[in-house]
Amino acid sequence: MLLRDAHNRIIRDLRVSLTDRCNFRCFYCLPNGEPPLARKDTILTFEEIEYICEIFVSFGIEKIRLTGGEPLLRRDIEVLIEKLARLKVQSSKFKVQSQSEIPNPKSQIPDPNPKLKDLALTTNGHSFPRRAENLKRAGLDRVTISLDSLRRERFKEITGVDALENVLQSIEAAQKYNLTPVKINCVLVRGRNDDEIVDFARFARTRDVKMRFIEFMPLDSGHDWRRESIVSAKEIREKINEVFPLRLKEKSRGAETAWRYEFADGAKGEIGIVAPVTEMFCGACSRIRLTADGQIRTCLFSTTEYNLRDVVRGGASRAEIVEFIEAVVLKKEARHSINDEKFAPASRSMSFIGG
Ligand code: SAM
Repeated sequence: MLLRDAHNRIIRDLRVSLTDRCNFRCFYCLPNGEPPLARKDTILTFEEIEYICEIFVSFGIEKIRLTGGEPLLRRDIEVLIEKLARLKVQSSKFKVQSQSEIPNPKSQIPDPNPKLKDLALTTNGHSFPRRAENLKRAGLDRVTISLDSLRRERFKEITGVDALENVLQSIEAAQKYNLTPVKINCVLVRGRNDDEIVDFARFARTRDVKMRFIEFMPLDSGHDWRRESIVSAKEIREKINEVFPLRLKEKSRGAETAWRYEFADGAKGEIGIVAPVTEMFCGACSRIRLTADGQIRTCLFSTTEYNLRDVVRGGASRAEIVEFIEAVVLKKEARHSINDEKFAPASRSMSFIGG
């Protein structure tokens, strides 16, 4: 049985935020420093995360991405990765004992052998170079690294940290330890780094990485987002095409958030454009999110969260947890409302929700 929402979308992709802490201060995310952090006792333990992920995998979740905040700030993350990596080889530990345990049998006893297919991590790359080998050994499949400027001074201005060199080394380490394909997230913001689009395309070719240009979204804690700050997908495509002609890889995006392009001259690397604002892709969304403090979010822009932590900690049976998750998934929004006049930003920033 699969997790299906009320709009007939199947949920395949779970993003798990491991912490709301971050050691970068990107102006488009945490411009005014860290908002108040969650109390430690509200943060899910590794055992709770493992249990919840295992339930999600038993319902056809194929991809888990660990994020944050900065997920590498979560102590012993390798231990969690080891636990989650087991879901790639072992189907659900849960064995249905009797029908009476199942309040809604139709929603259970799914694929007899559902397994996790992809365990990924999104990081700012600050401490990644020295962690890469152990992360790989623990069972991580691949990594996405954030990089918003290739110029040292500007990188520092954007993130508040002089760490461009660490991030470049992270990319090399990810390749060395086969945490591939390496994706690079770059949030483009008008007047801040939009003059580097072509440089980044060149970077993708020479370093053989998958660039992901992301439109600036209204998820910044400072609420400074303005529509005029967005660099649209159309503009990104045009700018790159002028120098490095692109060819669309697939006519359909499927459940991918990015339109993916290859270089027409056959060079290595890939360009992906993620345009939630100007080319909305909600119709194919297959994602659901779990915050570090155990709240399910059905959309990045949700204004409502569902407290799975209290359900799990309150002693609910597995069947009750499943029922809760299924009911939440049914409430997944048809689409975000960034482009509506009455758009209200989520109360928590991207660093808390988990990008
Ligand atoms: N700390 C990790 C990192 O830097 O990759 C993971 C968390 S971070 C919130 C995940 C991604 O969200 C990053 O690639 C970041 O650039 C992106 N992000 C944060 N705020 C954003 C915003 N307002 N609009 C678009 N992307 C944003």
